Amino acid sequence: MIQQLCNFSRICFTNLGADMKDAPILWIVIPCYNEEDVLPVAGDMFLKKIISLEDNKLISEESKILFVNDGSSDTTWDLIKDLSGKDRHFKGISLSRNFGHQRALLAGLMEAMNRSDITISIDCDGQDDVDAMDEMIRRFAEGYDIVYGVRKKRDTDSFFKRFTAESFYRFMNGMGTEVVFNHADYRLISKRALEAFSDFKEVNLFLRGLIPLVGFKSATVFYDRKERMAGVSHYPLKKMCGLAFDGITSLSVKPIRYVTIFGFLIAFISFIGVMWAVIQALRGETVSGWASMTSIICFVSGCQMFSLGLIGEYVGKIYMESKKRPRYIISERIE
Ligand code: UDP
Ligand code: MG
Repeated sequence: MIQQLCNFSRICFTNLGADMKDAPILWIVIPCYNEEDVLPVAGDMFLKKIISLEDNKLISEESKILFVNDGSSDTTWDLIKDLSGKDRHFKGISLSRNFGHQRALLAGLMEAMNRSDITISIDCDGQDDVDAMDEMIRRFAEGYDIVYGVRKKRDTDSFFKRFTAESFYRFMNGMGTEVVFNHADYRLISKRALEAFSDFKEVNLFLRGLIPLVGFKSATVFYDRKERMAGVSHYPLKKMCGLAFDGITSLSVKPIRYVTIFGFLIAFISFIGVMWAVIQALRGETVSGWASMTSIICFVSGCQMFSLGLIGEYVGKIYMESKKRPRYIISERIE
């Protein structure tokens, strides 16, 4: 009897899952900055994907593709408007200036939050495999609130890009900012996780480090990272170092602790040096140690400058946070 009851409820539940009315509303959030070469192709690609997800009854027919124009100086916004005129799935918001990838993504996620059950954030350039979305949505149906898209390997990246990107993750983790290895910003977030995340009010955004702090059940889905469809990367080494530094200093105080430990070490070595100098002086063997003296002064002052700079970085972050400026400003919206 109990067995039959279980079977019956299982059948009902399975049918419910397959019913369109119960399928979640998905919003795909795509930040775009000067992507006029990519958008026409990418638009088609995302549209095909969302239609196939709808056909497979994985998502509701009310699902949308939301482009966020991050203050592009080319025709990106016009292209987004054209796309939205052609198909009901496309939506768009335009930021008042270039706020950067992380904030553009945040703007899109907040826009989608109250009108979707799940969001998937993805880059515009076709590097992330859209076919991984099926698996992500299935994971959501299994009860996971956050599903991270993780690159299997980096064959398509140049050796330099691969090396710097992998060092980035290792360095971040070493510095106390927990990030999912080889996961960029391709991820599914459920409505309740996004609502919880909307309470994180910081101005210094590093989503890859912040989202894991939200908690909830999470899963990973692996995919092959492709080459950019067209155009060039907006993350050259300089920007990537900036992102790593921002990520570390806005999420972790480990560097300050390392500086303290380093300071202790230097103080200890200096103490030995002083002892040595005193003993030498008492034995009357003082030498004209100009070179060693200069080296020590240079080294210690270098350490001090570095430590001051690092502490200044944190002070600067507090300064920026204390202003409570808006993290993005939307200037136009396609409804
Ligand atoms: N992007 C953005 N604002 C910026 C820089 C980049 O919205 O200031 C977008 C860009 O259009 C792309 C995504 O962020 O959709 C990732 O950028 P990109 O592909 O240049 O970085 P990479 O994949 O090389 O790390
Ligand atoms: Mg890219």
